[in-house]
Amino acid sequence: MEKKRVVIIGAGVSGLAVCKHLLERGCQPVVFEAGSALGGVWARVPDCTELQTPRPMYQYSDFPWPESVTQVFPDHRQVVAYLEAYARHFGVLGCIRFGHRVVGMEYDGVAEEAVAAWGEWAGNGQAFGSGDGEWRLSVADAEGHVEMHTADFVVLCIGRFSGVPSIPTFPAGKGPEAFDGQVIHSMEYAKMGTTKAKEMIRGKRVTVVGYLKSALDIAAECAEVNGIAHPCTMVVRTKHWIIPDYFAWGVHISKLYLNRFSELLIHKPGEGFLLSLLATLLTPLRWAFSKFAESYYSIPMKKFDMVPDHSLFDALAACLIAITPKDHYKRLEEGSIVLKKSKTFSFCKEGVIVREGESSLIKSDIVIFGTGFKGDEKIKDIFTSEYFRSIAVGSTSTTVPLYRECIHPKIPQLAVIGYSESISNLYTSEIRAKWLAHFMDGGFTLPNITAMQKDVIEWEKYMKRYSGRYFRRSGIAIIHTWYNDQLCRDMGCNPRRKKGFFKELFEVYGPGDYVDLRPKKE
Ligand SMILES: Cc1cc2nc3c(=O)[nH]c(=O)nc-3n(C[C@H](O)[C@H](O)[C@H](O)COP(=O)(O)OP(=O)(O)OC[C@H]3O[C@@H](n4cnc5c(N)ncnc54)[C@H](O)[C@@H]3O)c2cc1C
Repeated sequence: MEKKRVVIIGAGVSGLAVCKHLLERGCQPVVFEAGSALGGVWARVPDCTELQTPRPMYQYSDFPWPESVTQVFPDHRQVVAYLEAYARHFGVLGCIRFGHRVVGMEYDGVAEEAVAAWGEWAGNGQAFGSGDGEWRLSVADAEGHVEMHTADFVVLCIGRFSGVPSIPTFPAGKGPEAFDGQVIHSMEYAKMGTTKAKEMIRGKRVTVVGYLKSALDIAAECAEVNGIAHPCTMVVRTKHWIIPDYFAWGVHISKLYLNRFSELLIHKPGEGFLLSLLATLLTPLRWAFSKFAESYYSIPMKKFDMVPDHSLFDALAACLIAITPKDHYKRLEEGSIVLKKSKTFSFCKEGVIVREGESSLIKSDIVIFGTGFKGDEKIKDIFTSEYFRSIAVGSTSTTVPLYRECIHPKIPQLAVIGYSESISNLYTSEIRAKWLAHFMDGGFTLPNITAMQKDVIEWEKYMKRYSGRYFRRSGIAIIHTWYNDQLCRDMGCNPRRKKGFFKELFEVYGPGDYVDLRPKKE
């Protein structure tokens, strides 16, 4: 691999992990990072943003958090410091070219018709194919100068919670253009930095659209700055399970949802007859687990009529859970945050019109969309050719087609790390990075394209079954061990990593279980 030209795009949690594991195998990748700092989303979040995943789950398997960090949910500065230390320790820092955005890439050397006709991925099922094809990347620096780079393999680690904002559409004359005030997306708010952002909202009537992590954090910041003098209004279209921590009635919910036993209660991709039968028979137990946890978490929600229509299990399956910012309910009580539930809303000159039974006007100076991102478009947009753009992310009725959530069956010499979500995206990206490095180092070949596509469809069925309308989020949280098992088997490693039957069945798998993930033959 030493001689291979490998480009990683993005220096967030995923890009850093991929780079570290490639360096270990003698490869010298170049990491192009559009921003001026590493850490991806963590380098640009509202001031009060903290990790939502407990720290031990959000750590690289061979790089523990420093002892000075004791919080269960470290803040974003601590996350960035941890990632910087990791990058420095493993020599990743020297590979990163900051301020370099990849603005386009095309596959060169093999005609697209030939690529489309291949039965084996990249022509032979191997990372670098036959050696005829390569990627040509256009890379713009901070001044806008564009250079061309070539690569034998590209790893897209461009993240899905940044870059392309998802903004609701409105009928003509009812969108932001009708409003006299300022409209921004959470991404722009985060980019401003703390001082400027707080200055912007000070003394202003702020309306935040959305009720997940970014929206909740921005509303918390508004409430802190403006108190009850200028309450922040949150427009809530969908109620979500926002929970204070992971303990329900004293039981850590990972014990109910995230161990091998809980995976037995779920239909899994590629399961055989017996596991399928067991999952069907145990479905009532899954329902009971969910009701048990919901009965606890819904207590503060009931007061504000905020209990979601979907179950906590559904939310976990789609990775749609947020940790409640500190004092959220206190702020609702005191009135520094006001909730307006409304399935639809529109803009007018003075603010936002919501329909909660009757229409009402929320007079606003600033409206902030905390409505998420279109991570799939970011992947599509990076390709120059129409062919790759048309197949890169599937359609609205399919998942983004990634074999092992990493490899597009029809796009050669390229991997995507960090698209599909889990309980801890760092943990998931790291194990994928190990799998990818092993594959690129010749550790195994991929199955043929038809087999990969069949596998993708099996996973799609699972995602549609358990994540419903959110299936395109590609959440694997509730079967993360089942998923990891497949990666382990591909690498020739033993997927059973705990000592003893009961530990294997009831303990939750995490980064620590995969420290010495060495293929048996190595
Ligand atoms: C507010 C917030 C809180 C979160 N909390 C959690 C949590 O508690 N637990 C959890 O598991 N996950 C959480 N997440 C999800 C989070 O996105 C992942 O944990 C993880 O940080 C993703 O890392 P990544 O490297 O895949 O992507 P990103 O962090 O998005 O990094 C992608 C990088 O690629 C760069 N890039 C993109 N396009 C290009 C290009 N064309 N050229 C060059 N560079 C490019 C970007 O500048 C960026 O630095 C949170 C996300 C947000 C927004």
